Amino acid sequence: MTSYLDHGATTPLRPEVAAAMAQVHAPGLGPLGNPTGSHPPAQRARRLLEEARDEVAVFLGRDPADIVFTSGGTEAANLAVLGTVEVALRARGEAVVLHTVVEHPAVRESARAAEAAGAERRELPVDPAGVLDPDALARALSSRATLVAVMAANNETGVVQPVADAVDAVRRRAPQAAVFTDAVQAAPWLDLAEVTADADMVSLSAHKVGGPVGAGVLAIGARVALTPRQHGGGQERERRSGTQDVAGAVGLAAALRLVASERAAAATRVQGQRDRLADGLLAEIEGAVRTVRPGTAVLPGHLHVCIPGVQREELLVALGREGVCVSGGSSCASGALEPSHVLAAMGVAPGLAAGAVRFTLGYATTDAEVDCALDVVPAVVAALRRRG
Ligand code: PLP
Repeated sequence: MTSYLDHGATTPLRPEVAAAMAQVHAPGLGPLGNPTGSHPPAQRARRLLEEARDEVAVFLGRDPADIVFTSGGTEAANLAVLGTVEVALRARGEAVVLHTVVEHPAVRESARAAEAAGAERRELPVDPAGVLDPDALARALSSRATLVAVMAANNETGVVQPVADAVDAVRRRAPQAAVFTDAVQAAPWLDLAEVTADADMVSLSAHKVGGPVGAGVLAIGARVALTPRQHGGGQERERRSGTQDVAGAVGLAAALRLVASERAAAATRVQGQRDRLADGLLAEIEGAVRTVRPGTAVLPGHLHVCIPGVQREELLVALGREGVCVSGGSSCASGALEPSHVLAAMGVAPGLAAGAVRFTLGYATTDAEVDCALDVVPAVVAALRRRG
């Protein structure tokens, strides 16, 4: 059997979402127009798009006018970071971007691109539990700050960040700065309307919540000024040109609807499965440790472990061969595993980080998949250790 425990990388498309998307292009309904047009097929596209926008807005507790559909979490992060930096550079000749050291590359690399364009970039450290250090944030904030990026939860470890406290600190010490929260990993689990209520910008990605790859959102609050990354027909209120992906937006909205209605029950069930997996693996694999300290707030589906005496590349391939699909936490486009900047920032010793594995459970995870992983992982680790 296959034990797919890599929901943090991407989630299986939910059948209800596939059905909602198929309905958009159902042959009996005639052609789907371009939402900007004026004939009935265009009106249908526009209606579907705006209904989807309304649903996303409800999910995030925002005004529908804030919602900008994008091609995913990466594009949303680029728009948030580079768009605000460009405005500041034009207006003041300087821009300062602060971001937690554990941000996803979508944010980190956008900030690096902003740096190359003339902005100052500063990384905000985390404590050994992987949580943003509030004192370091307070020290870094000044009247020069343009943008502060604090993710809702980390993609590798699942560690939840204190977004509301960070927003509070920014409002007190750098009221001119905008706060951007990458909520891509947190979306299946946290009530984002509450957690990100005061953040200026929030990003989502459909494929992390049972929706399609290639659809996402950046919610942009009314007080944020940013320039678009794409220039063209002025769609999405001049913030993101390009014909909108109506089926993608419908799929994202359908997925979020399911997440919101099932969140509490799913969190309890998945956390139970995750804890059973953790207990079993730690009991069976000598020397294995949970990377995140006990008592730290972690998303219910994330389990990050370090297994000494194995190389994670080898381990992941061997596990995959046995049907257990997990990841190392950070992979670049080639699929190769890079040393994790997240683990380094938490002070995890490189020797331990070499055997780091991320299990991410989600809405589709079954008890049988957990059982399978509990059988397979200790046996594969033992075989690799024997081989040396
Ligand atoms: N931000 C986080 C925290 C992520 O985990 C990911 C995807 O792994 C992204 C952003 C990028 O999202 P997308 O794959 O939709 O571009």
